[in-house]
Amino acid sequence: MGKEVSMDTLVNLAKRRGFIFAGSEIYGGLANSWDYGPLGVELKNNIKKAWWKKFVQMRQDVVGLDAAVIMNPKVWEASGHVATFHDPLVECKYCHARFREDKIDATKPCEACGDKSGFTEPKQFNLMFKTHLGPSQESGTEVYLRPETAQAMFVDFAQVQASSRKKIPFGIAQIGRAFRNEITPGNYIFRTREFEQMEIEYFIKESDWKEQFENWLKLMHEWLVDCGITLEKIHDLEVLKEDRAHYSSRTVDIEFDFPFGRGELYGLAYRSDFDLKNHQDSSGKDLSYTDPVTNEKYIPHVIEPTFGVDRTILAVLVSAYKEEEVDGEMRTVLSLPAHLAPYQVAVLPLMKKEELTEEARKITEELSNYMAVEYDETQSIGKRYRRQDEIGTPYCVTIDYDSLEDNAVTVRDRDTMKQERIAITELKKYLVEKISL
Ligand code: ATP
Repeated sequence: MGKEVSMDTLVNLAKRRGFIFAGSEIYGGLANSWDYGPLGVELKNNIKKAWWKKFVQMRQDVVGLDAAVIMNPKVWEASGHVATFHDPLVECKYCHARFREDKIDATKPCEACGDKSGFTEPKQFNLMFKTHLGPSQESGTEVYLRPETAQAMFVDFAQVQASSRKKIPFGIAQIGRAFRNEITPGNYIFRTREFEQMEIEYFIKESDWKEQFENWLKLMHEWLVDCGITLEKIHDLEVLKEDRAHYSSRTVDIEFDFPFGRGELYGLAYRSDFDLKNHQDSSGKDLSYTDPVTNEKYIPHVIEPTFGVDRTILAVLVSAYKEEEVDGEMRTVLSLPAHLAPYQVAVLPLMKKEELTEEARKITEELSNYMAVEYDETQSIGKRYRRQDEIGTPYCVTIDYDSLEDNAVTVRDRDTMKQERIAITELKKYLVEKISL
């Protein structure tokens, strides 16, 4: 029980069961690109759905946004990304492999070739992907793929505020893809060049920032618990002044002990009024807010909680993975929270006999209106239970010959392996109660 999972084990399970595959594999892959398979896309969608529900739908003070990936390039000038979204790049003098200077020990041999010739002086490498808009490649058509979702919340601030009639404090949330031409992507889905973020820009009065910061830190921890992420592996790192962006008076990196070491899972930053002020100055548009009670006019300050979707998936999988011995045999279990599991229920006829499969299909169809159900009639019942354990399905419903007489089925709990007999008429209610958060 409680065995630490290695990356190899996790990557293999994810591939074998259809959570995550190497991208473009039949062409030899594309460095560090990953595709979410049939189970992975369900897990990913469930994480995004749970996040949206918690931080947007269940709150009256947060509204959503779904902005374009390609924005006017002036956005990235005003935000500071063109001038400063750099990582220091060094090159091995022997094999010319490139590394992020702050991620290697330059006194050691090159990780790629083992040579000791050393590295070049660091050059600043901008992480934004460039492309051209329209058919011409002339200057003036150059645009960027967004490196974060955040800027749209600032650029659209006035429109969102006016149309939603929200009063400070309020937030704008967005889930979407971001692109960074990382010098050294790696560690599976931890660092890729294309990934998804879930971000909130929470607009406040400057005087409230300390209280709001603490509040959001608490909410981020609540979210970790909702996801079943092991809290003993979570560490809040107060980012030192010299490592913080100059406009931030406080940044906390929420780190997680991944199998390859500790790394940033989420971030929480107080961004002052830096972004709105810069966009107001650059665009010439008024991005201030007028308090309807006091008539005070000011540029709101911002607290930014940011969550990586892919890193969440990795932390959720690491936290959920268990191997345990049952009756002298090892079983692998993904103890995913029910609301995140790709399938909440598996419906299994005890044998592939028409009387049983017909009833099982009927039950599958009925339950599918309310939850994600997998129907499986292949292999022995033991093997089917093991498969469901390994993909994290919290409940298995088995239809046997007695079911045809007593109109009841056996419900097996993934974690305790306890079995209960439940009347078919009660089944939907029983399961809905079990799987709701
Ligand atoms: P790092 O220091 O690891 O490069 P960062 O501080 O640049 O991360 P942020 O700019 O704060 O990251 O991005 C917000 C969130 O987006 C991160 O907390 C992380 O969850 C996610 N993220 C950032 N870069 C990547 C990436 N290359 N691949 C996957 N997720 C990422």
